[in-house]
Amino acid sequence: MKELIVALDMDTADAARGLAAKLAGTVGGFKVGSRLFTSEGPDFVRALVGEGHRVFLDLKYHDIPNTVAGAVGAAARLGVWMLNVHASGGREMMRAAVKAADEAGAAGHTRPLVIAVTVLTSFDQPALEEVGVSSSVDDQVDRLAALAEQAGLDGVVASARETAMLRARRREGFVIVTPGIRGPASPGARADDQVRTMGAAAALAAGASYLVVGRPIIAAADPRGAAERIAEEVASAR
Ligand code: C5P
Repeated sequence: MKELIVALDMDTADAARGLAAKLAGTVGGFKVGSRLFTSEGPDFVRALVGEGHRVFLDLKYHDIPNTVAGAVGAAARLGVWMLNVHASGGREMMRAAVKAADEAGAAGHTRPLVIAVTVLTSFDQPALEEVGVSSSVDDQVDRLAALAEQAGLDGVVASARETAMLRARRREGFVIVTPGIRGPASPGARADDQVRTMGAAAALAAGASYLVVGRPIIAAADPRGAAERIAEEVASAR
């Protein structure tokens, strides 16, 4: 299922490679986040790209524009398919990220999709208020997604619960990536630290472009079976 991106949230390249091999052919790509990147670094990303996988580098850059631009350029040189920044880094930072991706593309690298994290799927209303944001979660996601679109980004990361609203309000083709997938196909899976969750079929029906799934697949006794059940849930709902 090409819309299914599996989060390789593990500590070692060996474990991640083993999981990627088990899932080969059933999923649309792999996400390398801060945990695996911190332990295994860019070599692992290069290797995964070299094996022909689509890699979403999920390092959620959030820094001054010049620093983020440098990081995006470096990520593009690794050959990643998608990367992300925090929309709360602001318009100039996001513009700098897109410019760096465009420049890498013009220099002959694959131009990565640049998307922005809106509000983490582990946040609920009280958590948002605690960091000084008094808007509702929906309004904050909407505001940051609009800013990301204006800054020229390819899309956003948001929870499936905001996806229908985003699909209606953003331009055609705007990429919406939804983590926090929990539901019918993974009955044993807990919500873990995710709060704004939804099932895979419902998330795609709401307009998600890609689903990011971690623990419901990687912590399953049979990860390939877990991925196949998610694909079946989606296929039977279509
Ligand atoms: O294990 P689980 O399915 O909850 O994994 C979700 C993945 O998506 C994690 O790697 C997490 O870092 C990432 N993510 C998220 N919320 C965001 C952006 C990324 O949960 N807004």
